[in-house]
This record gives sequence, structure tokens and C-alpha cells, in this order.
Amino acid sequence: MSLPLPDASQPDASQPAARPPADPTLPWDPADPDRPAPPEQPPVDLADRVALVTGASSGIGRAIALELARHGAHVCVNYHAETDEADDVVAEIRALGRKALAFGADVSRPDQVAAMFAATVTTLGRLDILVNNAGVEKRAAFTEISEADWDLVLGINLKGAFLCAQGAARRMISQGGGGRIINVSSVHEELPFPGLAPYAASKGGLRMLCRTAALELAPHGITMVNVGPGAIATPINRQTLADPARIEALDRQVPVGRVGDPDEVARLVAWLASDKGSYVTATTFFIDGGLMHQATNL
Ligand code: NAD
Repeated sequence: MSLPLPDASQPDASQPAARPPADPTLPWDPADPDRPAPPEQPPVDLADRVALVTGASSGIGRAIALELARHGAHVCVNYHAETDEADDVVAEIRALGRKALAFGADVSRPDQVAAMFAATVTTLGRLDILVNNAGVEKRAAFTEISEADWDLVLGINLKGAFLCAQGAARRMISQGGGGRIINVSSVHEELPFPGLAPYAASKGGLRMLCRTAALELAPHGITMVNVGPGAIATPINRQTLADPARIEALDRQVPVGRVGDPDEVARLVAWLASDKGSYVTATTFFIDGGLMHQATNL
């Protein structure tokens, strides 16, 4: 029996594919021992940018305020009721050598939001970055949701984000030089959330607020982008975190096998807030360990 001769015109599948010839125009080539290193990426640099982070006294907002400061930003730490916690965040930011102030304001109140922007600009000089992070959730069956809870959740999560984004955009346009608006949304801007309809509605609204405002703000050099976390270990999930059985069930639903850490969200926000995020706008970055594509019932 004779075996067919290999077709010399076809690549031999039994042999490793030949490496494409090195591009001589590149100063580096990972396969060339004399030119192994890829070019060094400059770190995220927010030196002397001024940021305002809402709901920054705890959880994800706290982590974001500190991460922005680590990269050089001066920060207004907005809080609602947790004065001592906000003061602690301010002290940590100052220890990094940045300027900071704590400002108590309910983001759903236009008068308080206006006062917060005025104080930020008076104290820190300008505004380059807004992070709309403040958020609450209220659990109730759809047929039992009270009007008060609906108004509370939509007032903070959606109207509050609108008021702050509008205040930031006006300031950024008047001072010139563009800016960054980053909304901490949720996987629930897309994933239904039985038992938390007001929360899901608020984050769904944030999705289209971002898409629409971003198009209007683009000519001014202002980007707007949503970051959509999955399950992150913060006080908002304190009931789940206090119950080992529920944590285990949650961990099992996340493809990477664990809930996320606030610092993991903060690192993405810092990148988006820097010059590296200059071409990202009118979209959502989900950061959920794959949760959205596997979740059954949270
Ligand atoms: P958190 O409870 O620690 O933080 C919420 C913050 O919002 C608190 O600092 C709170 O004081 C502040 N806040 C509440 N009402 C306010 C108001 N009226 N004005 C100003 N600030 C107010 O919980 P977190 O998980 O850090 O939540 C931060 C954001 O992340 C929220 O928008 C939340 O929806 C979002 N998020 C969280 C998760 C998660 O699993 N932790 C997942 C997806 C999205």
C-alpha cells in the first residue's frame, strides 16, 4: 500500500506553524532574544486632575477615590450620612500628598449638588473627572413596591447621576479642556433583577442616559462611560456577605469563582479617567467575572 505524498503547496499540519517574519520596523520582537521587551507602557497618570466621587465614604466609591488619588488626582469625597468615614478617606488621600475635601450632599437634591460643585471648584480649583457612584437598593416584590421606595432609588441612582453629570458637564465646558464622567452602573442595567425592580430600572435608565449624553458631550471633549460591576464585596451586600451559605451560592454563580473586590472596579475607573480612556465613550464596561453570562437567580 502506498501512502499519498504530501502536497507541497499546503502547510504541513504535523509541523508547528512557522513564525511570521519579524517586523523590522518594530523596535522589539518577543521572539528575538536581542529585542525581547515590548515597549514600556506609561502608568495611568492623573497628576493634578481634580475628581469628584459621589458616595465615596464606603465600598466602591471609597476605593475609587483612593485609587484616583494614588494616580495623582485631588479628590472631593462626597458622602451622605457617614461623616467620620468620609473624613477617614480624606485623611488617606492627604497622606498620599493630594488635596481632598469631604462634602456632605444628597445627590438627589439639586441645591445640595450645586453647593457641592461650587465647593469643589473653590477648594480644588477645577473639575476634570466626575464619578457618579452613589447608589442604594430596596428589595420588595414588584406588587409591594411603595412609591416612596421607588422615588428614593430612582432619585439617588438615576436623578442624582443626572444632576451631577449635568453640573459636571456645565463646569467642564465653561473651563475648557474636556473631561471624564464615569457612572457606576451595574450588570443590572441589562440583567433583570427580580425583587429589585426600582434598582434595575435605575441602572437601565443610566444606560441610556450615558449613551445619549455622551453623544451631546463628545464635541466638548467630554467622555461619558458606564462601569457595570457584578457582585462586589461592599456594604450594599452586607446581608449576603453575613451569610456563608449565600456567599458560597453567589461564588458558584460567578465563572471566575468569587465575588469581586472594590479595588478591581477602582482600577478600571482610574484607567477610564486617564488619557488612556480618551476614545471610550457612550458605552458600558462590565466588570463581573463573567457573571452576566451565567447568572440564574441572584
Ligand atoms: P455602598 O453602600 O458601600 O455605597 C453606596 C454609597 O452611596 C454610600 O457611600 C452611601 O453613603 C452613598 N449614598 C447613598 N445615598 C446617597 C445620597 N442620597 N447622596 C449621596 N450619596 C449617597 O455600596 P457599593 O456597593 O459601594 O455601591 C456603590 C455603587 O456601586 C452603587 O451605585 C451600586 O449600585 C453599584 N454597584 C454595586 C455592586 C455591588 O455588588 N457592590 C454591584 C453593581 C453595582
